[in-house]
Amino acid sequence: MSNFVWCHGPSCHTSHTQDRIRGVKGSKVLRTKKVQEQTWTRNSFYAYFCSNGCYNDYANKHIEQIRAIAPRTEALETPIEVTKTQDIDWGGRPCISTKIIAVDNG
Ligand SMILES: [Zn+2]
Repeated sequence: MSNFVWCHGPSCHTSHTQDRIRGVKGSKVLRTKKVQEQTWTRNSFYAYFCSNGCYNDYANKHIEQIRAIAPRTEALETPIEVTKTQDIDWGGRPCISTKIIAVDNG
């Protein structure tokens, strides 16, 4: 017996694909896809959505509720060091390379 959830995409059942067709002639339907529980999908949206499209549809439909979970009220910053060095580009010409390195101040 396998564990699954129904895809949470609000329009999953409207996509015209053969793997969503259920029923017999005269009473066929397009059904929401099952999402099987798999090791690689744990702790990711793939545990609840059959595709990126369904995930995007859900996020767009519920964006205000999602944003309310952890609203961003100020910018975050990552301390860095920037170095510029003489380099050679892909065509063999001299150029300046910029390297950004995150600095751990903690
Ligand atoms: Zn889906």
